[in-house]
Amino acid sequence: EEFSQRLPKVELHAHLNTSYSMSFLQDLMRQRGNINGVSIEDLRLADAKPMDQAFVIFSKLHQIFRTEDTIYLLTRSVIREFAEDNVKYLELRSTPKQIPETGLTRDVYMQTMVRAVQDCEKEGLDITVRLLVSIDRRQGVEVAKIAVDLADRWMKSTQGLVLGIDFSGDPKVGDATDYIPVFLDAARRGLKLSLHLAEIPLYEETKNVLRACCGHCTMRIGHGTFLHRYESDKGHEEIEDLVVQWKIPIEACVTSNLLSKTVDGTGTHHFWYWHSKQHPVILCTDGKGVFGCLLSDEYSRVAKEFSLGREDLVSCALSTTASIFENDEIKQRLRDILKKFCEKEQ
Ligand code: 5GP
Repeated sequence: EEFSQRLPKVELHAHLNTSYSMSFLQDLMRQRGNINGVSIEDLRLADAKPMDQAFVIFSKLHQIFRTEDTIYLLTRSVIREFAEDNVKYLELRSTPKQIPETGLTRDVYMQTMVRAVQDCEKEGLDITVRLLVSIDRRQGVEVAKIAVDLADRWMKSTQGLVLGIDFSGDPKVGDATDYIPVFLDAARRGLKLSLHLAEIPLYEETKNVLRACCGHCTMRIGHGTFLHRYESDKGHEEIEDLVVQWKIPIEACVTSNLLSKTVDGTGTHHFWYWHSKQHPVILCTDGKGVFGCLLSDEYSRVAKEFSLGREDLVSCALSTTASIFENDEIKQRLRDILKKFCEKEQ
């Protein structure tokens, strides 16, 4: 067993519908046949393809996970698989769906995810799971407001099992600037924000969101591929300055970025830039099904590329605990788990 597999880890950027495992899908299709004509081969991005290709796969996935029972099974299996990879704390995000034909409402969707998390707890899985409600930027500001209301209500009724909001979806659609009032409203209600920003070079919306939200929201940035000062992108230094000034953690999804071609090699991935600056940057899977990677693979990949030893990997894992949306008590619990792990490894 590899060191990165044994290492207790934190996963902060995982989308439910893209985090299935192949064995889970095979079992599901064995039981139910090919669902809505989708076959398994359609669902993995085996080689690097332009980003649009990933979005074609996402829409196929949404043909499969359309009912309460498939969403429940998916959530349970995703949590179990992260636990098997020694993830001790997981923030799982998903866009609540409303599908009249199957009777699914956004509330039922939330309830189903919450029930799956609670059942994993009852089963005694050694992992703490929290949920983020995703806003899909393709669906517009009105739906985003609904997502914030939903997250707020479920945060209260679950005593904080739901912690915040994710902003994701096709970055080529719409303008994140339009969602600023929604983000600020969510923050006022005590929701934390994880925003996909600068996944592709969209400097204006990135700047607008950072200017408006820094200092008013507890936030992290998803991907953040184009935040730092590239030679070719002069004139946007303010973006990096804000990220540094407010110490905004960056969720780095290396394999996902390589396969979606927003980054051309592990060696040039911005993970290393931020890590070297000692800025908070967290290795994440994004969608371990679509991109075919475990969180331990992400640690191994980076270790190999940048010649990181065991101590470096432990300090990477340790630093991620500061960026979770949970409170100090849980942060401390995670640090204790890592400390015990190190004692055992010696
Ligand atoms: P779901 O919210 O349905 O559980 O997970 C799939 C959804 O997450 C996709 O439809 C998309 O909105 C979002 N998503 C997943 N991966 C990515 C990614 O790499 N980039 C962006 N921008 N959105 C993503």
